[in-house]
Amino acid sequence: MSDTFQIQLEPHGGSFACTPAQTVLDAAIAAGYWLPHSCRAGTCNSCHLALSAGDVRHAEPAPAGAEPVPAGQCRTCQAFPLGDLVLQAPDVPKEPGQRVVTVGARVLDVQRPSADVAIVQLQVPAASGFHFQAGQYIDVLLKDGARRSYSLANVPNTEGLLELHVRRMDGGRFSPHAYDKLKPRDLLRIQGPYGTFVLHKGTAPIVLLASGTGYAPIAALLRSHGAAIAQRGAVLYWGGRRWSDLYVVESVAAWQAQFPGVQLVPVLSQPEADWQGRTGFVHAAVLQDLPDLSGHEVYACGNPLMIDAARDAFIAQAGLPAAHFFCDAFVINTA
Ligand SMILES: Cc1cc2nc3c(=O)[nH]c(=O)nc-3n(C[C@H](O)[C@H](O)[C@H](O)COP(=O)(O)OP(=O)(O)OC[C@H]3O[C@@H](n4cnc5c(N)ncnc54)[C@H](O)[C@@H]3O)c2cc1C
Repeated sequence: MSDTFQIQLEPHGGSFACTPAQTVLDAAIAAGYWLPHSCRAGTCNSCHLALSAGDVRHAEPAPAGAEPVPAGQCRTCQAFPLGDLVLQAPDVPKEPGQRVVTVGARVLDVQRPSADVAIVQLQVPAASGFHFQAGQYIDVLLKDGARRSYSLANVPNTEGLLELHVRRMDGGRFSPHAYDKLKPRDLLRIQGPYGTFVLHKGTAPIVLLASGTGYAPIAALLRSHGAAIAQRGAVLYWGGRRWSDLYVVESVAAWQAQFPGVQLVPVLSQPEADWQGRTGFVHAAVLQDLPDLSGHEVYACGNPLMIDAARDAFIAQAGLPAAHFFCDAFVINTA
């Protein structure tokens, strides 16, 4: 029996090998094929692809929160091939692209703009082969074998500079360490890039939707493609419980003045008594302002509950085409 299978991608072509013990997504990324994905833990439902030939076995039990895999589809981050496969991957070009690398990253600086968010500047060796696109994320590899994902908030560059926005979660394995103890010259082991939360070409006006540190990859999109986004017309809805959850909102407002085509709408769900701005759930504010999203694209990032609520409501109530909702859900993987 063959110990590797061939996975063919359609309609553009391209193929890669996958062993029976490898997930389809891991094998694809290792070969430089960027199938759509986000959490890589089976819960965000971003990596489903139609399977037009062959069969797969999905990991069991299915992770909590995972939707059932629709008939004829494959959840690539949880699927192991049972033979050769043909997958429909219309957004994936024929030629493989960037590769994932594992590399040591030196801490250059740690700022703490709020009581629970650390902004961490890292540097990887410029010769390490680590490259990323605006909107992608890395995994921090912990000493005990666990890994934690963090979006890159800065512009891709040739100096190996990376910026993370880490929210401290009480009792967590990595984020309290990052907030309380991380300091210049510390070394982190990272792997990446991962993720397909990147700006898609087009002319449609854009809704940017962030909760808390979900702003990080949106900052990368704005910093890298600010003029293009402004030209399309965009509104950034940034939600938190309190003003301090929008940890760099003043600098965003200052930056936004350069790009009048990008509007900023802060939304607080548990505001201080003197707050005079928008209140409630951040996705509800979008629906109040834009009841018809049929001509928009939405880029949403942060709390998985917010992402699910936004996707469901925008599609059902505001006519957003499902294919125009792009997201990275910050699902918690405690493994
Ligand atoms: C694609 C992606 C991108 C992300 N980007 C970012 C980002 O840019 N910024 C950011 O801040 N976060 C981001 N996250 C979330 C991040 O990866 C971590 O999940 C988060 O920082 C918590 O990690 P931790 O090790 O501190 O906590 P964990 O150890 O994962 O614990 C998280 C919480 O669960 C509780 N907990 C732990 N174990 C258990 C258990 N067995 N039962 C019940 N509760 C438990 C802990 O007390 C804690 O409150 C992203 C996630 C994904 C998937």
